[in-house]
Amino acid sequence: MHFSLPIAELLKASNLAVSLPLVYHPHYTAALPSGHRFPMTKFRRLYELLLQSGLVTSEDVHEPMPAKRSWLELAHTPEYVEGVCSASLDDASVRRIGLPVDEKLVRRSLAAVGGTVLASRLAFDHGIACNSAGGSHHAFSGHGSGYCVFNDVAVAARVLLDEGRVRRVLIVDLDVHQGDGTAEILSGDPGAFTFSIHCAQNFPKSKQISDRDVALPAGTGDDDYLAVLKTELHELLPEYSPELVIYNAGVDTHRNDRLGKLALSDEGIAARERAVLSLCRASGVPVACVVGGGYDMDADVIARRHMILHREARAITERNRSWEIGRVTSETSPTSPGEPSVSG
Ligand SMILES: [Zn+2]
Repeated sequence: MHFSLPIAELLKASNLAVSLPLVYHPHYTAALPSGHRFPMTKFRRLYELLLQSGLVTSEDVHEPMPAKRSWLELAHTPEYVEGVCSASLDDASVRRIGLPVDEKLVRRSLAAVGGTVLASRLAFDHGIACNSAGGSHHAFSGHGSGYCVFNDVAVAARVLLDEGRVRRVLIVDLDVHQGDGTAEILSGDPGAFTFSIHCAQNFPKSKQISDRDVALPAGTGDDDYLAVLKTELHELLPEYSPELVIYNAGVDTHRNDRLGKLALSDEGIAARERAVLSLCRASGVPVACVVGGGYDMDADVIARRHMILHREARAITERNRSWEIGRVTSETSPTSPGEPSVSG
């Protein structure tokens, strides 16, 4: 099939403004008591720095709607959803979460889940989309844990499965901590495959069983980490044949992270993002990214670490766009050179 020249010209023009959809809501940052260990302001700083850097423009920003209760109940028990939404959890449940569950935190949690659902939808249109929050993978069906209230990734997977939009979702969880809540919620669900690479010696002490777990020893560095990741993805993608990947790109794998125990460098994290995104896109699978963990007393330090994901995502989006233009141009012009090569 041959496209008309105006379409090729249109694609060329649109390449000037390659868009990387970013989902953000001002409610992502809820006030915490001063000195609290959770780096709540990193979400706002990530958004601000992404705009300042030009990696995203205001036109790329999408504001999510709060998660509906019916969505939450696809992954959580109605009792737990009610306990959170009415801010009536008992003290032990709140302590387990580690954050004060008040009106603002509930609002934040609903926005973050809505954000991961929206990023998942946007990924179908754009190939890659990023939520600038999300990755609350320690939230179980009936309780929260480890700074996580609702499991946005499990909810998003279940919403898209429930709507019949997809039949198989692969969760790639590369946060340094095991995605224990996600594993519990999606256990036995043929529509979801949970894959976690984490540090064996890190929280949670008692791990759940994901569909595929790789527990790395403390101190693992770039080369060993990347070798394991690539081997696993080369097997999983063709074997499971997902129609959507939801990627938890936690940067607490960094060697300077306050809570992580692995030893990835900035370049190691960049290579990790390239591996996940390019292998999924080469298989034609859309990828919705969530930020996951990352801990430092300086919110800017951690926000810049999270930006590695967006830099790599944008580069891959641009490269795929160039390839598309080359393909259309070569189909419409008999004298033009063949397909541009795509590295990956
Ligand atoms: Zn983590």
